[in-house]
Formats: sequence, structure tokens, C-alpha cells
Amino acid sequence: MKPDKALIFEMSRPGRVAYSLPECDVPECDASEDIPVHLLRSKPAGLPEVYEVDVIRHYTELSRRNFGVDNGFYPLGSCTMKYNPKLNEEAARLAGFARIHPYQPEESIQGALELLYTLQQDLAELTGMDQMTLQPAAGAHGEWTGLMLIRAYHESRGEKRTKVIVPDSSHGTNPASATAAGFETVTIPSNSKGLVDLDKLRAAAGPDTAALMLTNPNTLGLFEEQIVEIAAIVHEAGGLLYYDGANSNAIMGIARPGDMGFDVVHLNLHKTMSTPHGGGGPGAGPVGVKSRLIPFLPKPVVSRRADGTYYWDYDRPQSIGRVKAYYGNFGILVRAYAYIRSYGPEGLRRVSECAVLNANYMRMRLAPYFDVPYPGICKHEFVLSGKRLKAYGVRTLDVAKRLLDFGYHPPTIYFPLNVEECLMIEPTETESKETMDAFIDTMIQIIREAETNPQLLLEAPHTTIVKRLNETQAARKPVLNCTCG
Ligand SMILES: *Cc1c(COP(=O)(O)O)cnc(C)c1O
Repeated sequence: MKPDKALIFEMSRPGRVAYSLPECDVPECDASEDIPVHLLRSKPAGLPEVYEVDVIRHYTELSRRNFGVDNGFYPLGSCTMKYNPKLNEEAARLAGFARIHPYQPEESIQGALELLYTLQQDLAELTGMDQMTLQPAAGAHGEWTGLMLIRAYHESRGEKRTKVIVPDSSHGTNPASATAAGFETVTIPSNSKGLVDLDKLRAAAGPDTAALMLTNPNTLGLFEEQIVEIAAIVHEAGGLLYYDGANSNAIMGIARPGDMGFDVVHLNLHKTMSTPHGGGGPGAGPVGVKSRLIPFLPKPVVSRRADGTYYWDYDRPQSIGRVKAYYGNFGILVRAYAYIRSYGPEGLRRVSECAVLNANYMRMRLAPYFDVPYPGICKHEFVLSGKRLKAYGVRTLDVAKRLLDFGYHPPTIYFPLNVEECLMIEPTETESKETMDAFIDTMIQIIREAETNPQLLLEAPHTTIVKRLNETQAARKPVLNCTCG
């Protein structure tokens, strides 16, 4: 049998090494002098002993088992991996950005501060907000930060508001962040069009309402047509409006949350503006606010003096404090800056137009083969329901697994929660018609298979290294090492 190239522990032979170092010409240190004895290893670490080429092949092989946006089409709705221009990777690696230290004196990092300041201005303009903080490290972190700002605002006015309203189509992080920020979540059901039900919102909004959290377009890919009325209802109740802008590639240069009545917004730079994400990699979730919330922004804030120099402003007595070490994930901010500069305002608008066009093209071609819970024009993404396939004993999960056999990353499934057997598809703006057509043709083929040979789907995937997992067992009894039997 051909040895599995990834089984590096099995390849280990005593005495093999993957490095060559010159003879040590300084006295070797005695670890027990620096490290408390009870923390010292009593046995060697048990690492595989292999040659350099074996290590390289091992990691290269593992990397080939991964799927990323550079391998193929990745139509995951909502948390989509959008465009990651390679040029922005170069920019983030420039020594002047990558090798500076946050404790360097301000006068030696003026360029970096200018970049942050300009990015703040750009993002504020794009979202219609008055000021941004770039500190939060992820979307959910931005949500939590935004809610803490809302909390500080209400408290500064002597108001005790304890509830945050979210629609049932909201991203799971919304209620989670509200809870983490000490609020109680009130979920309101969407109406038959998949939009906020104004009567339900009126009934829920009151003197205890701190905020409404909304994604617009929502996670069904639908734009809240009555957003101005929604904003009025919440504001009249004394609450604020929070905008989840994790996926902004439907509205850039076309509509601004600030103009819709939102008071606080977060963006996911690691979705909309470059930077590959996933696997828990670094992100950035800047938060923008309207002027009445500016005093509470996390400190320090990067500011500009009259003479044009930049500095960290710590003199902010009402600030909620720091939410992230130093000043956020700087490399990701550099990528976002490069993204915005290289597209320019017209280019960003074009991104959104193409994202919406692509989504509607795919929606129209796939609609005849699925149930369509919310017909009509969508924005950057759309949802389908696979409930018709239940007649063949096949579920949406099986369609997703079968897609793996064809080399696709499946769409998001079973989210949002208010659509039965949900599939949520976002092609993004950068895919060609040929790529989308090939995916659609594959989906149609899979539907035919479900009708004629459902077993093929139930046992999928067939071509991947890891076959169908027992997901319950994987969640309950995860086996996390590679020496399992
Ligand atoms: C991805 C996403 C989030 C959360 O962002 P993280 O960076 O993963 O914390 C929040 N809301 C929506 C709509 C999202 O798509």
C-alpha cells in the first residue's frame, strides 16, 4: 500500500533531522536555570524525526487538502470570501508597514498613522457615519463594541435600556453580541416578504429598547424597503439603530447606512475589503458612529493636528476604553486601504453593481429547480429551499456534500433559520459567467441525481480525502490527534 504522505509520525526514524546548523560556538544554556524545574519536560517532546524534504512534502500535501478561494468557486452566502487582490498582500508586507512597532514614537510612524486616519475618513464616508474606530478585530467584536457604545450613550443620559431587538433572519453573532454586552435579546419574526414586520417592531419597541440590530440587505439578500419607517419607530422609542455591515458589497457607493437612519455600523474588512478569512485568521471589524456617540469611542483615536501631523489621542474621558491591544490588526487595515485606493469611488460602486447582477443571474437560472421562498430581485446573495428534494429522501446537506465531489465549496446551508432546508448563495462580483454557469449546471445535474439515484447524494462526498463524517459523533466525541486507530 502506498504510504499516506501526511502520516509524518509514521515516517519518523530515530536520528533523522530536517536541519543543519553550524557547530555551537557559545556555551549551551542550562534550561533549569531559567525555567522552574516543575515546568521542564521530563521526556523529549515526541516530535517526528524526518528529513527536510519530508517536512516540506508533509505541509505541502496538507495545504493541497484545503479548499480556498484560490482553488475554486466559493459561493458561501453571508460570510463570503470575496475578492482578495494579491497586490494588497504585497502592500501589507512592505517593510515600512510590516516591521514597525506599536510602541515606536509617533514621529517615526507618521505614514502608518496617516494611513489609519485616511482609512477612518474613507470608511466614514462610505457608510455615512461621522467617525470610525479601527480597533475591533472581527465582525462580532465590532458588534460588541458598537453595543457597548450604545450602552454608554444611554447611561450618559441616565437611561436604563436593557433590550436589543433582532429579526429572526439575523446573523447568529447579533444576539450573541447583545448578550455579551449585557443586553436581553428580543427576536421579532419577519413578515411574508422576508422583511421586518413593522407591527411586530412597533409592539416590541418601547422605553426599555436600547437598539435594533439590522443587516440591510438582510441575510435573505433582501433590502428593507421600509428602512426609513423602521428607523423612525426605533428612534421614537428612544432606541438606536445598529447596522451589521459585515457584507457591504451590495451597497457600496449606492446606499449608506448613515443616510438610512443608522447610528452605529460595523464593517468586516476581512469579507468586503480584501484579506482572506476563515480558520480563525485575523480580521478587522471597524465601527462607525454618528456624532452623538463619538465621545464614547474606544481610545486611543488617531487624530490630526492643525500642522498636519498625526497622533494618538488618549484624552477622551467618556471613552469606553480600549477594546483591542495596540491599534487593531494593522496589516488588515493596510489591505483595506489599498483596496479602497485602487478601486476609487466609481470602482467600489461597480463592485456592488456586479455583485448584485451576478447574484440575480444565478438566482434566475437556479429558481426553476428549487423552491424560492422570496421571489423577486435580490441584492448580493439569495436563498433557495431544498425542501422539494425531501420526497426523494434527500436533504440540502446531501446536495452540499455532493458539490464537494465536483470541486466546489458548497453554499451556506440551514441559514438563515427562517427558511426550511435553506441554501444561501453568494457568487460575489469577481466570478465570470462561465464559472457561474458551470456551477449552475452542476447543481442541476445534482438535482437530477437526487431524483434518479438519491443514494449517490446520501453517500457523498466520494472523491475527497475525508468522506462523509458522522457529524453528531464529531461534535460530541471529537478525535483531535492523528494517531487515532
Ligand atoms: C460574518 C458575519 C458576522 C460576524 O463576523 P466575524 O468577523 O466572523 O465575527 C456578522 N454578521 C454577518 C451578517 C456576517 O456575515
